[in-house]
Amino acid sequence: MIELKNVTKTYPGQSFKAVDNLSMIMETGEITVLVGPSGCGKSTTIRLINGMIETTSGDVFIDGKNIKDTDPNRLRMNIGYVIQHIGLLPHLTIAQNIAIVPKLHGWDKGRIDKRVVELLELVGLDPGITKNKYPLQLSGGQMQRVGVARAMAVDPATMLMDEPFGAVDPITRRGLQDEFLRLQTVMKKTICFVTHDINEAVKMGDKIAIMNKGQIVQYDTPKNILSHP
Ligand code: ADP
Ligand code: ADP
Repeated sequence: MIELKNVTKTYPGQSFKAVDNLSMIMETGEITVLVGPSGCGKSTTIRLINGMIETTSGDVFIDGKNIKDTDPNRLRMNIGYVIQHIGLLPHLTIAQNIAIVPKLHGWDKGRIDKRVVELLELVGLDPGITKNKYPLQLSGGQMQRVGVARAMAVDPATMLMDEPFGAVDPITRRGLQDEFLRLQTVMKKTICFVTHDINEAVKMGDKIAIMNKGQIVQYDTPKNILSHP
């Protein structure tokens, strides 16, 4: 479970609150979608949860533990993070990119090699063809899949996904959404999923939090959001 308690973030030199006294719970095993217009504070919320930036006031708890009590590097090693432009390292192969976090965890080569193959299969890529390629040899949709695989490498309980399928065409996006939902029915991870697309929010979310100007203006199931717009 991810819990935000009265979280406020004002960036240095800014006069407004990018996130304004936000309190919410993202339930274990659920996808909570943050949706809202550009600039409403979605990415800031995600970056506060994985400790990339610090709250101005308020606290973030992951599974009951205040993230301020966890070493930030350690915290990030244990949270899966997927962003729109995946940020695969171009000079490393797909297998090497996926291996980065497992290596930090001290996994041996045999365990990593096995996991890379398993992950590529999970996200619908042929390991034999994919693992020794370099990122720029893949299509946009394939890169997104690798991004998801990399984020899941050490099987983190918590995943943060910031417009994970935003950079691909609509048909590819639909495929990625469907496959991720299929995975999630088995994985039951605690996921914070950011999008600006209400259709994607309704499709992916167990819960939807609609944000505006750093605050949550509506929080409910997709079904209730659609019936009480
Ligand atoms: P969203 O993800 O919903 O588009 P963001 O969380 O990226 O929104 O941004 C929220 C607000 O904070 C915006 O007004 C944005 O310009 C501002 N902001 C985001 N990142 C920074 C930063 N590093 N420095 C200063 N202002 C920022
Ligand atoms: P596993 O997923 O294999 O259980 P762990 O997270 O327990 O991986 O870490 C494996 C090894 O790496 C442990 O010996 C742990 O102490 C070490 N380790 C993990 N993260 C860090 C870190 N941030 N700094 C130093 N050592 C670490």
